[in-house]
Amino acid sequence: MIELAWINGEIVPLADAHVGIEDRGFQFADGVYEVIRLYNRKPFALDPHLQRLQKSAAGILLAVPIALPALATEIGKFLARASVSEGMIYLQLTRGCAPRSHAFSQTKPTLLFYARALPPLADLATSEGVKLITVPDERWKRCWIKSIALLPNVLAKNQALAAGADEAVFIENDRVTECSSSNIFAVIGRRLVTHPVGSKVLPGITRAILLELAPRLGWPVDERPFSEEEALRADELFITSTTREISWVARWNDRDIGQSRCGPVALKLNAALRERVQRETA
Ligand code: PMP
Repeated sequence: MIELAWINGEIVPLADAHVGIEDRGFQFADGVYEVIRLYNRKPFALDPHLQRLQKSAAGILLAVPIALPALATEIGKFLARASVSEGMIYLQLTRGCAPRSHAFSQTKPTLLFYARALPPLADLATSEGVKLITVPDERWKRCWIKSIALLPNVLAKNQALAAGADEAVFIENDRVTECSSSNIFAVIGRRLVTHPVGSKVLPGITRAILLELAPRLGWPVDERPFSEEEALRADELFITSTTREISWVARWNDRDIGQSRCGPVALKLNAALRERVQRETA
């Protein structure tokens, strides 16, 4: 089955989808993106993803060149033709092609998306926990924008992999912000704690869903910065993203953090998340 891509309104084989070398996404990382999970051929939480896309685009003074309901329709039509059932959609919007100049000019934005299969996730209850290493948060102060300028995240992730870890967690002024491609939560004194979104934290869609589910399950939420020391003393630590859902944290730099398996809060939240996925993508 050949992979397909949707590019500026046309569906073509992925291998034939091209952008010009003067696309500002290519030359300046002048663009934003989304990753949307597919379950049972259906996009999960599509509306919040498209809303975030619009906010990210506005954050770089760019308009999504198609109304969001029409974009959702295009995604639906595309999925009917693509052969991906369990996977993700990668969607990218750049300012488009123009003679290279820092200054914006009138450009036609480049909007594209394609679908990719993802391997099934391990059962959280029996899964191995992830290993984190800490790295200084040297990113810019607009991390709420889902920008394609991901080099600091890419370098942090590869530093983690080189150290035998799975993910890098950013630390700024002794505060735990987020990871290279996930949000992070701590369970502290029967409360769920996570850094507020904004200058240093992306408004993760998975994060938002868990913040909605947690109080209903009996865990009040504190959106507040927390220190590395608090993280190490937490009852549970876990990270979240669209593609990984929830992963529990087993190691922090060179330390075991005292959990030998996934904790009860992460497990209950995961069950509630899975229930929502089932309900919305059945
Ligand atoms: N933070 C960063 C830096 C990310 O790249 C991601 C993954 N896109 C997340 C958090 C998690 O966001 P989401 O749950 O929307 O995938």
